[in-house]
Amino acid sequence: MAITETQILDALRAVRLPQGGDLVGAGMVSGLTLREGHVGFAIEVDPTQATVMEPVRKAAEKAIMDLPGVLTATVVLTAHRAAPQTAPRPTGPAKPHAHGHAHGQPGGQPGAQPGGGRLSLPGIKHIIAVASGKGGVGKSTTAVNLALALHANGLTVGLLDADVYGPSQPRMMGIKGKPTSKDGKIMEPMANHGIKVMSMGFLIEEETPMIWRGPMVMSAITQLLRDVNWGELDVLVCDLPPGTGDTQLTMSQNVPLAGAVIVSTPQDIALLDAKKGLNMFRKVDVPVLGIIENMSYFSCPNCGHRSEIFAHGGARREAERFGVDFLGEIPLDIAIRETSDGGNPIVVSDPKSPHAAAYRDIAQKVWAKLSGTAQRQGPRIVIQ
Ligand code: ADP
Repeated sequence: MAITETQILDALRAVRLPQGGDLVGAGMVSGLTLREGHVGFAIEVDPTQATVMEPVRKAAEKAIMDLPGVLTATVVLTAHRAAPQTAPRPTGPAKPHAHGHAHGQPGGQPGAQPGGGRLSLPGIKHIIAVASGKGGVGKSTTAVNLALALHANGLTVGLLDADVYGPSQPRMMGIKGKPTSKDGKIMEPMANHGIKVMSMGFLIEEETPMIWRGPMVMSAITQLLRDVNWGELDVLVCDLPPGTGDTQLTMSQNVPLAGAVIVSTPQDIALLDAKKGLNMFRKVDVPVLGIIENMSYFSCPNCGHRSEIFAHGGARREAERFGVDFLGEIPLDIAIRETSDGGNPIVVSDPKSPHAAAYRDIAQKVWAKLSGTAQRQGPRIVIQ
């Protein structure tokens, strides 16, 4: 029989707190999720209590694992109350532990610019976000190929996998292993195909289901940005978490984004999700560099025949309608899937292919906008 929320809460009532009482009674359990035997939740703690509460976290995990029918239990401590809006300063080395949660401490933001509340990353010339209104549209595939295409065009590039819910860049970039740190504070980024990469996927066990809540995500992303030795970069491409919720909004507010690229598929003709993305960035005054239509048409691997199985061209029309640039279209092609899922994205594995050329063309347009060689922005349109 499937495990119920009541069973979980009952088990947690047996977990005692150092100060007396139990986890449930103290109202410290939040964000409980249950999915096919995978259980996750956060324990909200005062940030100064993080060390004292670690044994409680472990005990809670054990109590859940001991229940019949539970496959995994992921319990994280969160200093949620201490840092509602801004990115907290971590205590030491960026080490979101095996459960994926980067502990934060309250306090000032040494990396923030005065007044702006945004992180300051002086070595990085331009940070761009690759975003999508929903998951599965090929955002990560586009991000990795765009980053590699920018590099192929002669730029120094980093790739930050900010998709902490389902980090896919270690796989797509063909990188295994864990980052090292020379001083115990700043992590060295991983690298392959000529670009530097950082991802939560390097820091957590694979297959670990992660339960993230807004402030935790921001804290983790902040560490991946600030506590990594990125060196001098022309562009840092950020593969954002899917969707346009509070997390993405907070991230767009806290990270000094030079612009955002929105990935959309054509079958959603009205592109409702993509519109949400547009609106979100406009809300926080991040320029939308343009829209990319992914899985635009089907390219037959045998004969090269092009079939427009979805309503191809929807993104171009919508982009025009909203006064945003259309950056290009990428077909649905098994070669794109196989290469990126195999750790050798098409831009590096088959640079002569038309798809690689399409990514480089998009990268060139993006760079022209970033470096100011193209007209900055179209007319500013407010969508009601
Ligand atoms: P998202 O980041 O939006 O969730 P992914 O980039 O992980 O999406 O893509 C989802 C799946 O679709 C992956 O297996 C990926 O290889 C595949 N995919 C993405 N774009 C294409 C494309 N243009 N042609 C074929 N497969 C693609």
